[in-house]
Amino acid sequence: MTTKKDYYEILGISKTADDKEIKSAFRNLAKKYHPDVNKEKDAESKFKEIQEAYAVLSDPSNRKKYDQFGHNAFSNGAGFNGAGFDFSDFDFSDIFGSSFGFNFGNSQRSSRAKRGRDSIIKMTLTFEEAVSGAKKVINIDVSQSCSECDGEGGHGEKTCHKCRGSGTITQEQRSLFGVYVTRTECPECDGKGKTFSKVCSKCRGNGQVKINQDINVTIPAGVDNGNQLRLQGKGEVGVNGGPNGDIYIEFVVKNHSLFKRDDSDIYLELPITIGDAALGVKKQIPTLYGNITLTIPEGSQTGDKHRLKGKGIEDVSTKRKGDMFIIIKVLVPNNLNKEQKILFEKLNNTNLDRSSAIKDFEKYLK
Ligand SMILES: [Zn+2]
Ligand SMILES: [Zn+2]
Repeated sequence: MTTKKDYYEILGISKTADDKEIKSAFRNLAKKYHPDVNKEKDAESKFKEIQEAYAVLSDPSNRKKYDQFGHNAFSNGAGFNGAGFDFSDFDFSDIFGSSFGFNFGNSQRSSRAKRGRDSIIKMTLTFEEAVSGAKKVINIDVSQSCSECDGEGGHGEKTCHKCRGSGTITQEQRSLFGVYVTRTECPECDGKGKTFSKVCSKCRGNGQVKINQDINVTIPAGVDNGNQLRLQGKGEVGVNGGPNGDIYIEFVVKNHSLFKRDDSDIYLELPITIGDAALGVKKQIPTLYGNITLTIPEGSQTGDKHRLKGKGIEDVSTKRKGDMFIIIKVLVPNNLNKEQKILFEKLNNTNLDRSSAIKDFEKYLK
């Protein structure tokens, strides 16, 4: 094992430094040692060292591993190797913002594999489809590598004369921190570093074509408004051998005429007559899992709540079923016929239960 310098030492911070301190130390050192700025011989290796230290310490799980095992944490089996840290997936740009145009990692950014773009489509589901899951076929345009030119974009490859094959145009820029070199994508070759004597007619130089495709989609039970399903690799084609992007399907769930949904619980308002409320009644209730009989006790009131455990919706990730709640709504008749009116009057003249709320109210009458 070669002796490697301590990551904290490299960044000049203490072992207890927080994220902000780590980031700020890295920023300052990267500005100082970036090979575009610092022309000293060891600047590049120093810069790599700084990047490596930052990549490990800025990631909480890597930092924990490092704190526990030191450099050995990354020497085998942990996704690292002795030769150093793999930066290809590490995004340094967020700490600098794009204005710096620093070219981190590989100096030939143009030839780096880049993941294709993701896209999102919306899908409307009925309440039942969302609750029980469904199989659907969607018809979409999927990007594919052009078969005519093997995704190259043309025939008769030539090195781009404008950027001399680097894919980038370099410009010097003065700023508060000194002179910086910014690199922008070459407009002549779109950063590819090469042009063609004949542009592919099928893909017009894009390297990819859109193919209309039917895709079978299995929607899991329990999805809700705004949930997304990922169709891996169905998005845009990656660049330079990078993986394809993904397509996300976002669900829009229609309301049910009877059931109201709250996460995995279902609410149902049950209208009953004043007689049923007073005397009690057994009622058939529709649920997602068939009808059940609910016993409504005598003296039920509007707003009374009955819980049917496990009769709700299965949660899409935990697979746990929610509950169903039946909310009683007592209907007071407003279109009594003559006979009913007489009966109600008779009823009213009996010694009807006088609730304490009515008695409390009457206390204030003079
Ligand atoms: Zn083509
Ligand atoms: Zn070029």
